Amino acid sequence: MYSGPGVKTSADFPIPDKMKAWVLGDPGALTLTEKPVPVPKRAEVLVRIDAIAICATDLEIIDHGSPAMIQGGKPFNKNFTPGHEYMGTVVALGPGVDEYRIGQRITVEIHAGCGQCKRCREGMYTACLNYGLNYGDLDKGHRANGFTTDGGFCEYQVNNINTLVAIPDTMSDEEATLVVTAGTAMYGLTELGGLVAGESVVVTGPGPIGLLGVAVAKAMGAYPVILTGTRDNRLRIGRELGADHVVNVRNEDAVAAVRRLNGGKGVDYVVECSGAPNAVNDAIHMVNRGGKVCLAAFPHEETPVDVAHIVRNNIYLYGIRGEGKSATHRAEAFMTQKRFDATKIHTHTFALDDLPIAIRYAKDRVDDAIKVVVKARGVAAHRVAAE
Ligand SMILES: [Zn+2]
Ligand SMILES: [Zn+2]
Repeated sequence: MYSGPGVKTSADFPIPDKMKAWVLGDPGALTLTEKPVPVPKRAEVLVRIDAIAICATDLEIIDHGSPAMIQGGKPFNKNFTPGHEYMGTVVALGPGVDEYRIGQRITVEIHAGCGQCKRCREGMYTACLNYGLNYGDLDKGHRANGFTTDGGFCEYQVNNINTLVAIPDTMSDEEATLVVTAGTAMYGLTELGGLVAGESVVVTGPGPIGLLGVAVAKAMGAYPVILTGTRDNRLRIGRELGADHVVNVRNEDAVAAVRRLNGGKGVDYVVECSGAPNAVNDAIHMVNRGGKVCLAAFPHEETPVDVAHIVRNNIYLYGIRGEGKSATHRAEAFMTQKRFDATKIHTHTFALDDLPIAIRYAKDRVDDAIKVVVKARGVAAHRVAAE
């Protein structure tokens, strides 16, 4: 029977001893297996995972390993379960936990910092200096589920209470998986960037973070908000999420278009979500003097950057890793108040057993897939792969 020292459970939410879990073998190889249901410790709860969205970073981890880091190295063949954008129901409380109750619906953010390093003490737990240190003599208690500890492509997971965000019953499971994506965009614009109403924003790349970056910027009162990309269907969704202007970079020069649309001086912020080879150079020419460029994509190639232009123009450049400073709570507040409709980027739902099909949809953008969600229950499994 499922139990642990000081752990509270409820007959309303019976917990099995074992669960289905996908594990990563060699690069690109996922296998459905069984694992023990994990047991929450102090300041942790057990979450029954009700839905999980697939993120571009999951695809990166499954094929290339980085930025996941298990026991100090690549995550392959370590019985590691990836997946990080999940939501669910609290079904067990670790010792002393009274911040959440059994049966409560929550969504999660990824990083629980060690709580003892300089960055954690500053609230920048996504930049924890003890990243990945949670094993053996190096155990500092850091957790980033789906990156340095087991993630959500399974039925249950333990989460530190600091990573939970309560959600209302009016928010669907699918929408709740998108809180962390909106929270990431929000962290880049507000907590790191300092955006205030009336400032101008360009988002380059209409992927999930880019599209919700448009929505968050608009909800924050940014004006104008300009979205650049290559696919008209995604640019159209960007418009629906609040972009004042969209630019298809196949048809016109992105830098020239941005300058034309904002009075010739460039914008206050660029959020770079495309990872395109010349994206950083384009971004530094889109911002005005003293403007800020937030880098949110993982490019694969190294490209030369016009550093002199950055220096001469007092441009700020910063990378963003994840959702930090509890930005997810502010994103959830916007979503609960229906300030934007994040579900516009959710396109497909599959059963947990069909994770490989779901991943193929996300990776190859089958049927114009944007956010693909996987659910452990309530969705019929595909008997025949949807080719
Ligand atoms: Zn993600
Ligand atoms: Zn830390």
